[in-house]
Amino acid sequence: MIEVEEAQRRVLAEVAVLDAEEIALADALGCILRQDVAAPDDVPQRDNSAMDGYAVRAEDVAGAPLSLRVIEDLPAGTVAKKRVEAGTAIRIMTGALLPEGADAVVQVELTDAGAEVVRISEAVPRGANVRKRGEDMRAGDVVLRDGTPIRAGELGVLASVQQRVVRVGRRPEIAIFSTGDEVIDVDAPRVLGKVVNSNAYALAALAREAGALPRVLPIVPDRADATVAAIESALSSDFVVSSGGVSAGAFDFVKDALDSLGAETKFWQVAMKPGKPVVLSRLRDRLYFGLPGNPVSCMVSFHLFVAPSIRKAMGQQRAILPPVANARLAAPIRGKGERRTYYRVRVVAAGGELVAHPAPAQGSGVLTSMIGANALAILERGTTRAEAGSIVPAVLIGSVASE
Ligand code: AMP
Ligand code: MG
Repeated sequence: MIEVEEAQRRVLAEVAVLDAEEIALADALGCILRQDVAAPDDVPQRDNSAMDGYAVRAEDVAGAPLSLRVIEDLPAGTVAKKRVEAGTAIRIMTGALLPEGADAVVQVELTDAGAEVVRISEAVPRGANVRKRGEDMRAGDVVLRDGTPIRAGELGVLASVQQRVVRVGRRPEIAIFSTGDEVIDVDAPRVLGKVVNSNAYALAALAREAGALPRVLPIVPDRADATVAAIESALSSDFVVSSGGVSAGAFDFVKDALDSLGAETKFWQVAMKPGKPVVLSRLRDRLYFGLPGNPVSCMVSFHLFVAPSIRKAMGQQRAILPPVANARLAAPIRGKGERRTYYRVRVVAAGGELVAHPAPAQGSGVLTSMIGANALAILERGTTRAEAGSIVPAVLIGSVASE
């Protein structure tokens, strides 16, 4: 049995970065950029106005209140035909290029908004309300680097430099199958003793959240030959993720099936709760994750091992593991202390800090403990309790909610 950190290290050491492809910018949300992107031009292209007002020479308004002759009207997107000379002003809108001769903008609020002659009530210094050429980007500067996750802000920047097509990491395809004679499809008639294949849905959703393309395969019965056949058919995908069949029970065929296929198993038990049985194998150039069948164990191990692999495969270079932050417990948590335990909590921002509300039932089969869970509060091995009000580390697996 190995520690979680060691398991994560072994997982990431096995993950190869996939090839890159060019896609339309509009499709790039959630992808990892695989090129450096430089600004082709200064942004802003020239000094321009940060306010609606009047472009002036600062020296002309030093003795305000006073009046200036308005010689032109300048909407955004147009270029002044005239030059601001002593005693004159050009009416200017936010974003319009600063006219020749002007070195400041008097905001309209400090004027009478005159159209032919404008009354200026206060002086402004040189450079007032002027956005400087290149203050956002300088021509030739790399503004986004290879390995950057593309979110809304990055997409906006890419659009602003007219990067209509971007080079990104290919999204890996993740084959997903569930094992278990007791597992039935979501639309099968309800039968006593059977459980619905919730793992396939949860895993496909987690894969999609991480940026991958899930391929859900049929449920696999607890038989050696069926397990081997399922693994074979899954190997055309970039990664294989199965649920169930990895414990040491009489009907747990995954490890044996992998062995019989000649897979190289890197580990099959991790010192964590939920989720002790977790298999990592390499088989014909593919990585195989055998996750436990218990729905919570299955999802927790996906967050800790599979999601980081997807990020690395797509080309992310930093912040690949989920972040850990301190959170104050709103209620106590209790454990056995044999292994590091991950408690499903809902972390909210309250009173300037993160507060963790533990799900009331924490069994690894209690699927409802995942409802609203956006973090996994940690109790280390040997620790059996943490009191309400105490601070614990928590792995963030979703965005933090407000109270
Ligand atoms: P296993 O890891 O195969 O021993 O499965 C442990 C338990 O997880 C089973 O007894 C089921 O209750 C549950 N389980 C297994 N597979 C699934 C699945 N695909 N969806 C939901 N629950 C499952
Ligand atoms: Mg099973």
